[in-house]
Amino acid sequence: MAGEFGKRALVIHGNNAARTKPLLAGIEAAKMEYSCFEVRGEPTVEQIADGVNQARLAESELVIGFGGGSVIDSAKAIAGLVTNPGAILDYLEVIGKGKQLTFPAMPCVAMPTTAGTGAEVTRNSVLASLEHRVKVSLRSTFLLPRLAIVDPKLTIDLPPSVTASTGLDALTQLIEPYVSIRANPVTDGFCAEGMRRVTRSLRRAYDQGQDLQAREDMALASLFGGLSLANAGLGAVHGFAAPIGGMFHAPHGAVCAALLPHVTAVNLRAMRERLNDSAALSRYDSVAKILTGSEKATAVDGIGWINDLCKALQIAGLRSYGVTEAHIGVLVEKAAKASSMKANPIVLTDEELTEALQAAL
Ligand SMILES: [Zn+2]
Repeated sequence: MAGEFGKRALVIHGNNAARTKPLLAGIEAAKMEYSCFEVRGEPTVEQIADGVNQARLAESELVIGFGGGSVIDSAKAIAGLVTNPGAILDYLEVIGKGKQLTFPAMPCVAMPTTAGTGAEVTRNSVLASLEHRVKVSLRSTFLLPRLAIVDPKLTIDLPPSVTASTGLDALTQLIEPYVSIRANPVTDGFCAEGMRRVTRSLRRAYDQGQDLQAREDMALASLFGGLSLANAGLGAVHGFAAPIGGMFHAPHGAVCAALLPHVTAVNLRAMRERLNDSAALSRYDSVAKILTGSEKATAVDGIGWINDLCKALQIAGLRSYGVTEAHIGVLVEKAAKASSMKANPIVLTDEELTEALQAAL
């Protein structure tokens, strides 16, 4: 099917190249040519520049991303930038000029091998700048992959720690759009159904990785999270995750999980204090009902449920990645400017942001 987009593919993959063998065999069988580009860890502006060069030299006609969120985001960014002139920084928000991409991207096929980011259906690509020590997004409607192939079988071999962190990213990306100021009836449905699937299957996928039903639930939860965040935004958890991910080596999902209960608690208190008519207050109750399976549950029970899940999945505090009290000031300052923060159900003060981050250490 990808052959309809072109005959020369640039295949982006992660550090386990052996996993791409069946895909490469399929490309050969379709009489297509390919070259491979490996992305190690989360993509950096510098790495993406190399990928763009390779695509131009190889005269690639399509890009295939086969891997986790980092690989998919790399594929999207390379596909978008290869057809547009100038430096990458011209197109980046916060640290660059934030210019719009002028020309449509090269066709991109996204094949996620983890279940968490939903990057296969979003229009942004998160890149780290080593120079600026922050993660920022490249955003354009052109970045939406032409084709997303979501096959839960590709996630069967994920180790428990990756299942946990990516799965908790999926959960965060279902809760934040659900309480966001941009929540809407379309994303509400995806969020609620996604949360149900996480509730019944994340622990099972963690304990019994071979359980295909659990893997399918998580693959769908991830997909629904991606659709939701792309259309309703995120919130303060992801607002913090951007600068933390830029300054420390920590799995994105684990960072989100460490923050989620504490940001939720601070959001709730802030809304009760000065935005008591916010619809998000009752939405947090609805989240708790879905997570706990109890009609009597309230927002506080939801926080307890998330804390229990994080414990069961052995999620560590942010201190284990090197974040300390000394970093709180700069992280709060950067988080307040992050694009995800704009969709948080209430504008949090620096003191409230500080309190949430302190509690997540
Ligand atoms: Zn996320």
